[in-house]
Amino acid sequence: MKTYEFKRQIAIDKTYDLVVCGGGPSGCSAAIAAGRLGAKVLLIDAVGCLGGMGSSGLVTAFDPMANGEVGLVRGIMGEIVQRVHDRGFTGPHVTPEFWGKKYHCWTPFNAEGYKLILDEMCADAGVEVRFFTRVIDVDAANKTVNGIIINNIEGHQYIPARMFIDATGDAVLTDLCGAACREAGRDTPNIMPPTLCSVMSHIDWSRAQRDQTHTGASDQQEYLNQAIDDGFFSHTDRHMPGLFKISPTMAALNAGHVFKMNALNCRSLSDGMVRGRQLAQEYLAFYRKYVPGCEKMEHATTANLMGVRESRRIVGEYELNIHDYLARRQFPDQIGVFNKAVDIHVYDDSPEEYARFCEEYQDRGRLHPGECFGIPYGILVPKGWQNLWTAGRCASSDVQVHGSIRVQPAASMMGQAAGTAAVQCLRTGQVACDLNTAQLIEQLRRGDAYLPQSDLSQTMTRC
Ligand SMILES: Cc1cc2nc3c(=O)[nH]c(=O)nc-3n(C[C@H](O)[C@H](O)[C@H](O)COP(=O)(O)OP(=O)(O)OC[C@H]3O[C@@H](n4cnc5c(N)ncnc54)[C@H](O)[C@@H]3O)c2cc1C
Repeated sequence: MKTYEFKRQIAIDKTYDLVVCGGGPSGCSAAIAAGRLGAKVLLIDAVGCLGGMGSSGLVTAFDPMANGEVGLVRGIMGEIVQRVHDRGFTGPHVTPEFWGKKYHCWTPFNAEGYKLILDEMCADAGVEVRFFTRVIDVDAANKTVNGIIINNIEGHQYIPARMFIDATGDAVLTDLCGAACREAGRDTPNIMPPTLCSVMSHIDWSRAQRDQTHTGASDQQEYLNQAIDDGFFSHTDRHMPGLFKISPTMAALNAGHVFKMNALNCRSLSDGMVRGRQLAQEYLAFYRKYVPGCEKMEHATTANLMGVRESRRIVGEYELNIHDYLARRQFPDQIGVFNKAVDIHVYDDSPEEYARFCEEYQDRGRLHPGECFGIPYGILVPKGWQNLWTAGRCASSDVQVHGSIRVQPAASMMGQAAGTAAVQCLRTGQVACDLNTAQLIEQLRRGDAYLPQSDLSQTMTRC
């Protein structure tokens, strides 16, 4: 490969206590948690709104937050969903039981409302937000980050800070630091395919949905099977999450896997966006032709961001694995508890893959009502790093557990924990990879996190 040495003097910005890269559910919760505890926080995002996949990716439903008995995901995520609901931005059929009690139940919402609530919560917490700002390089030595280099309309800048959180979904900052990461497709045989989501309008829900409380769209599976058998689609993908009701006439559509796309390769990502837009038209035509109540469906828009499910995962102090998950393991240093099935979408459109997905998602990889597994602190810390945390989709787990914890409520819990841990380090001089986790858990509980473990430990669970 030919190379070019890129050298220039750039402005140094003021120093922050904490810089959070990425404003999805993990980044927003990290920034809000730290801001509320009095830290001077900068939150940057590559696009022009907060919410990440939930807004820019049009993934407008929160995954299950309860286990049929109690609400597991509380804290900042609980507050976000309550506020979104109180302001009328959840689906018209949604009640507080959706996130506070029900088992295996999604909470659909309107992306515009979600963006507003996050803007307000960040402002109230004193978080400075910079949009259209991308982290592009890092100044780090001895497993300590000194500053990051960002780029936006003002050019390049160096931002010094004492603590850093990588909430980019793709572990961009952690990878720039040279910390070990696992890449889907490079370190694993497969890449879970992404989906370019859409918003659809002009739906007559009274005919499109038989069960009015149902939030997903398995109602439409029989129509999908018929269309595939008719040769209607350009592929034979039987796995379709489908429509999520977000208003009396609108839905978010999660349909159309872009197989073999690699989110860490710009050419592949660009081709994937083109393919995603083509697929959105196929699904629009399918709904109009096959699904009652959708004859007049209109396509409002596709998402600005590709709906990437899998790219990088960090190698953390702990790697949460499927044995922990199946054992419903509880950890003294767990920063969240969760009950969401292992949801690894089909790797291709073969019948074998669809059978594998159904078996895993509906049976083998699903916890029962009343159960939960713990998410330990160590999955947020790149091994040995002093002032860097990596929260959300790119936290440290095996592929199967990633299929459960990659979703928005879990990402938010991880973010709240990372932001709280960063402030603990600022105040005590502790470091990320050697944090007093008993202190962290007590502070998270004061922040309304539901952490039922009775025994706490001063040190984290390690591999
Ligand atoms: C198609 C699809 C459907 C899904 N369905 C659901 C669902 O129904 N319910 C659910 O709860 N979850 C769902 N998920 C999972 C969930 O949306 C994401 O995994 C979750 O949002 C991850 O949160 P995060 O904070 O880690 O990252 P993200 O939400 O991806 O946010 C990352 C943010 O970082 C920013 N960023 C990236 N690179 C940089 C950079 N270099 N500099 C600055 N900023 C950067 C991005 O712009 C983005 O805003 C779905 C995911 C996909 C892809």
